[in-house]
Amino acid sequence: MRLRNITGSREVITGSRFVVQEEEYRPGGWHEIFGNDHPLHVEVGMGKGKFLHAMAKLHPEVNFVGVEKYSSVLLRAIQKMEEEELKNLKFVRLDAEELTRVFGPGEVDRLYLNFSDPWPKDRHAKRRLPSKEFLARYDVILKKDGRLEFKTDNRGLFDFALEELPLAGWKADYVTYDLHGDEKLSEGNVMTEYEEKFSAKGNPICKYQIYR
Ligand code: SAM
Repeated sequence: MRLRNITGSREVITGSRFVVQEEEYRPGGWHEIFGNDHPLHVEVGMGKGKFLHAMAKLHPEVNFVGVEKYSSVLLRAIQKMEEEELKNLKFVRLDAEELTRVFGPGEVDRLYLNFSDPWPKDRHAKRRLPSKEFLARYDVILKKDGRLEFKTDNRGLFDFALEELPLAGWKADYVTYDLHGDEKLSEGNVMTEYEEKFSAKGNPICKYQIYR
């Protein structure tokens, strides 16, 4: 997934109309960027953007933003948009530590974390996207009654994510250790690239939806 060194990926990104550039950041002003007042949904650690592209196609009444740290990965999402452009999908190349530079307080209606990197060493726990440190950042940008959804096949990371919830003041609407085996929760589920890969290997998919 890293694909870090694709020549020219930075140049493509800075020239892409699908990417909101640093000089265009206006926290609290996403309705102006999209030109409407539709709800705003954000995937943090979007990867190549398969999930968001499918979601944006399915839900034209919602604005979607994909946040991705690496240019070379974001490039793939841009290529997909060049093949099939969607008006309600934009990208930002950003380290999620800086989310508050891009989104205003309470601006986001829903957050998605999908198959976040596990960072298995204890000393790297703060880098895990469902950690209490990141939950505090999401707390700023997410609406008061907003929801965050997290999916992963990594049971260790999922257990860690559940333990972080009370420490950061969040509660779960639901928790499942087998999303695809749950008829109700899997209804309308849109698979991410990693979800397809790991569920094809027989790995059960864990998911929670949380609020505070
Ligand atoms: N969400 C996609 C999926 O489910 O198929 C991609 C999953 S991939 C394992 C995790 C992605 O998160 C990678 O593209 C990685 O670059 C990105 N990522 C990891 N840490 C990040 C951070 N701090 N800020 C933004 N993106 C990050």
